[in-house]
Amino acid sequence: MASEPAARAVAEEIGRWACLKQTGVSLRYMMEFGSRPTERNLLLSAQFLHKELPIRIARRALELEYLPYGLSNKPAILKVRDWYLDSFRDIRYFPEVRNQNDELAFTEMIKMIKVRHNNVVPTIASGVQQLNQELCSTRKVHPGFDEINQFLDRFYMSRIGIRMLIGQHVALHDPDPEPGVIGLINTRLSPVQIARIACEDARSICLREYGSAPDINIYGDPNFTFPYVASHLHLMLFELVKNSLRAVQERYMNSDKDVPPVRIIVADGEEDVTIKVSDEGGGIARSGLPKIFTYLYSTAKNPPDLDGPNEGSTMAGYGFGLPICRLYAQYFGGDLQIISMEGYGTDAYLHLSRLGDSEEPLP
Ligand code: ADP
Ligand code: MG
Repeated sequence: MASEPAARAVAEEIGRWACLKQTGVSLRYMMEFGSRPTERNLLLSAQFLHKELPIRIARRALELEYLPYGLSNKPAILKVRDWYLDSFRDIRYFPEVRNQNDELAFTEMIKMIKVRHNNVVPTIASGVQQLNQELCSTRKVHPGFDEINQFLDRFYMSRIGIRMLIGQHVALHDPDPEPGVIGLINTRLSPVQIARIACEDARSICLREYGSAPDINIYGDPNFTFPYVASHLHLMLFELVKNSLRAVQERYMNSDKDVPPVRIIVADGEEDVTIKVSDEGGGIARSGLPKIFTYLYSTAKNPPDLDGPNEGSTMAGYGFGLPICRLYAQYFGGDLQIISMEGYGTDAYLHLSRLGDSEEPLP
């Protein structure tokens, strides 16, 4: 436990750093910079992060102190706030990065920070879920949650950025990268190939949950590639496909009609790569549409236990899939739209910016 004056000193420093301007980077910049991972460039990158990360982390730490409805005092939120404080301290106490040795030590330190924050999403979610249950005792989302939704959007968006910056810097140290790979960015990523993997993963969860899973057809040129982060694309497609599989599965489970396959179409435009995930799972009522991008909103029957296994391995129920998926898309300048025909099915349009020169949105 830090002493009173020490804690006050950190709080003051957080306040000071949270006011400094954040610097966004684009996918293209990361790619160009990372294509020459020389000792000198890695040093420059570490020096940039030494200044940039405390600014971003301080903002989040500060915001965690002033959440509405007493959310800031929930144990789960306090835990996350402590992670942010610890990470802020670790970076601020780290001396100036002057040479390769400093740089390697700095890289180890931020790698450790990334691990410390691994469970931020489910931990925050459990705090928010607990508050929601206290406020309205049913599975409905409390109407006052607008503000909390906006906070979560800012918070998770910022987290995506911080993890991208750290992950990219760490990955640039790989002595033997695969051809076409620059840090976390695959300059020749095939969306069809990622779609295949995401579909397999989603289907196996569906099989485990229901004992069967609808087929999925993927349309598009498997040889088409563009620069993107494979893990981001995988995560987005995985969430969309899980939603479609669940909708189709639940609609056809007790019927003897042929189960219509989920269809994935990959289009390569000049500005965007667009991926449509299309299903005949009955769609979403128009009145429900405004809610699907709010956290906690889910029509899954059995809400999973947030303290249980990792959220990625469950079919549905956290209500985090769509909002988080949209944040990943927006992070590199893309977007996600959901179009529904109630009584028929749903189309999810995932737009990914091809130019990659839009700067990170920095909340
Ligand atoms: P979860 O899957 O955990 O419920 P999501 O954010 O992924 O959370 O989706 C929120 C809700 O939106 C779902 O519970 C469901 O009611 C609705 N939804 C999303 N995708 C579809 C789809 N393809 N077909 C029908 N309903 C959908
Ligand atoms: Mg989902």
